[in-house]
Amino acid sequence: MKKMKPLVYLDHAATTPLKQEVVNAMLPYFSECYGNPSALYGLGEKSRNVITEQRKMIAKTLGTKGQNIYFTSGGTESDNWAIKSVAEQYRNRGNHIITSKIEHHAVLRVCEYLETKGYEVTYIDVDKQGKVDLEQLQASIRPTTILISIMYANNEVGTIQPIKDIGRIAKKCGIIFHTDAVQAYGQLDIDVEKEHIDLLSVSGHKIFGPKGIGFLYVGKDVKIGSWMHGGSQERQKRAGTENVAGIVGIGRAAEIAYTDRKRKNIILMGLRDYLIQRIEQEIPYVFINGSRKQRLPNNISVCIPFVEAETVLALLDAMGICVSVGSACTSRQTEASHVLLAMGMNENLAHNVIRMTLGEENTKEEVDFVVDKLRECVERLRRMSPNYEKFC
Ligand code: PLP
Repeated sequence: MKKMKPLVYLDHAATTPLKQEVVNAMLPYFSECYGNPSALYGLGEKSRNVITEQRKMIAKTLGTKGQNIYFTSGGTESDNWAIKSVAEQYRNRGNHIITSKIEHHAVLRVCEYLETKGYEVTYIDVDKQGKVDLEQLQASIRPTTILISIMYANNEVGTIQPIKDIGRIAKKCGIIFHTDAVQAYGQLDIDVEKEHIDLLSVSGHKIFGPKGIGFLYVGKDVKIGSWMHGGSQERQKRAGTENVAGIVGIGRAAEIAYTDRKRKNIILMGLRDYLIQRIEQEIPYVFINGSRKQRLPNNISVCIPFVEAETVLALLDAMGICVSVGSACTSRQTEASHVLLAMGMNENLAHNVIRMTLGEENTKEEVDFVVDKLRECVERLRRMSPNYEKFC
């Protein structure tokens, strides 16, 4: 049996550790190759060339060409840029945006902001599995609709959206289609051309790359404005000296993620399904959130009635296990997750949800350890719960 690491990390949807190959690829760009990519001498050219290489390589993973990739500081910036830019550039065509109720706040808050500026936003419902209602989406389209923004896969419950169908609807109606692929990229096959995706957001730290770097894919027919004004970096769309080491990091991480991902996904899905099966067999009354079939290979979102997810999280943390809760903390008050509520879950149950997201470094021994400890915690907490006693 392999020796277990002191920490069992099952929160890869929150962030991932850098792979050693990624660190190694980045290191020279902090020291020897520190030239400013805009500089005209050889040292600058080296930095410039390596950025071009990463752009081309990343574009290939999306089935497109290099000139469509713009580097940003991460998923949040890419989402902000995509949505605000379309709103501004296509204002003469209309002021209506369609999104879903289960988007990340990096999309929802931007839409809410735009509502204060005179834009109208329709927030599409999802079904119990977290899939967007395509009929409602189709029916929501107006002559003034300029943008549809629907995430590729959900960060809390892992449900994968029917992106190709949404892309087809958007294309047929001449509407720009943006997708937040922060959780999907690196795990799923994405082809922006076949799926009619006009704008796509990605973050480096979700794919075993560095924090503070991401990119926005922009289709060739899409108008985007200058996001940062200043120098002529990123074809005058995002001024500021490039984060060369970060760009090399996300490039190398993307390359690794897309090489051999089919084999890695089979392993991840095997571990995921094993974890789900053990939980369902050994902990009474649990249920899995999200789609069973259209689900990210690494996501397990489970509702464990009669136990507060935050208490479970704290107990597991004390044993060296990192998981997350299916609720978002805002201003010190824990609110039920907007994703779970949109899926029709009642508020009490939404506080009983924990999310575990696997990474390729996790092992079966770790999964066994986590299920054993989780079962013990749940049994302990339920023994102390008057509601559970009444229920039984
Ligand atoms: N979109 C989704 C779906 C996410 O899960 C996250 C981060 O959790 C973001 C956007 C924000 O990405 P970043 O942390 O790179 O700003």
